[in-house]
Amino acid sequence: MSQIKCIGILTSGGDAPGMNAAIRAVTRAAIYNGFEVKGIYRGYKGLITGEIAPFKTQNVSNIIQQGGTILKTARCQEFKTAEGRKIAYDTLVKENIDALVVIGGDGTLTGARIFATENNYPIVGLPGTIDNDLYGTDTTIGYDTALNTIMEAVDKIRDTATSHERLFFIEVMGRDAGFLALNGAIATGAEAAIIPEISTEVDQLEELIKNGFRKSKNSSIVLVAESPITGGAMHLAERVQKEYPQYDVRVTILGHIQRGGSPTAHDRILASRMGAAAIDALLEDQRNVMIGIRNNEIEYVPFNKAIKNDKPIDRELLNTLRKLSI
Ligand code: ADP
Repeated sequence: MSQIKCIGILTSGGDAPGMNAAIRAVTRAAIYNGFEVKGIYRGYKGLITGEIAPFKTQNVSNIIQQGGTILKTARCQEFKTAEGRKIAYDTLVKENIDALVVIGGDGTLTGARIFATENNYPIVGLPGTIDNDLYGTDTTIGYDTALNTIMEAVDKIRDTATSHERLFFIEVMGRDAGFLALNGAIATGAEAAIIPEISTEVDQLEELIKNGFRKSKNSSIVLVAESPITGGAMHLAERVQKEYPQYDVRVTILGHIQRGGSPTAHDRILASRMGAAAIDALLEDQRNVMIGIRNNEIEYVPFNKAIKNDKPIDRELLNTLRKLSI
């Protein structure tokens, strides 16, 4: 049986809507099972500066619907050094925190894996990122909300694009992963999605646009994942405009609105189930795993698997987009 008495919780890296719902779930499930809970502020930075406070059930009241994270988040270079992680470990010992639940993306789970291995310390991770780029879970906390934000924004841009008969390149987040761009394109009836996983040449893109724009439609929308591989929406628009000056090309970069807002029902339920499962995992003496949900089943995914494996884009989605954008 586990010797854990007190569980620390932190959010780290890029923020995502639903992180608060996850904090609430972890806190409440921990207290339900008789654990003490401590909130660690500003991600791994809080373990170095000692920004830590006891968390009771009322600390997490009325936050399930709030975007952002009440624990704040940060990027912490010091945690990438052995010296920094030593200070973090000493803080955990001093605060009598026996296990950690960390909520964040790829970087956060990488840090967790290194720290847990170095110190033989129990950590459970929750996938909190709008990019949906963690292997071992169908979706990550925040992804569905960001996708809905994109959908609402693109619908609005479609109105003006149609009125002016314009070609819009809309940039969405997704440095290494095209999930937001691809599913955003399907959800909005966009003509194409340019994603890091699939290389698209300008002439291919032109073909796609011409099929719709000049034949039957009076506007075209292309979603572009913000990534060095795609070059971003501005870069693509410039290339297309130069080669096809007859088009009236415009660019919109959605930017940080994709990170904010009240989480959708999907993200609230996902975060709540994953938060409760994190405590179950610790009760079952699980170590160094990320909580995933695949085919509606909770899974414990070893950090190594979650981080190291690329989550593939579903070809069926790409084909669907192609078929439906004629
Ligand atoms: P995300 O979790 O959203 O991917 P980052 O990549 O910025 O965000 O990572 C968040 C934090 O996780 C970093 O600021 C750092 O403190 C920690 N981290 C990331 N990579 C490592 C690593 N290789 N070793 C130790 N800590 C890391």
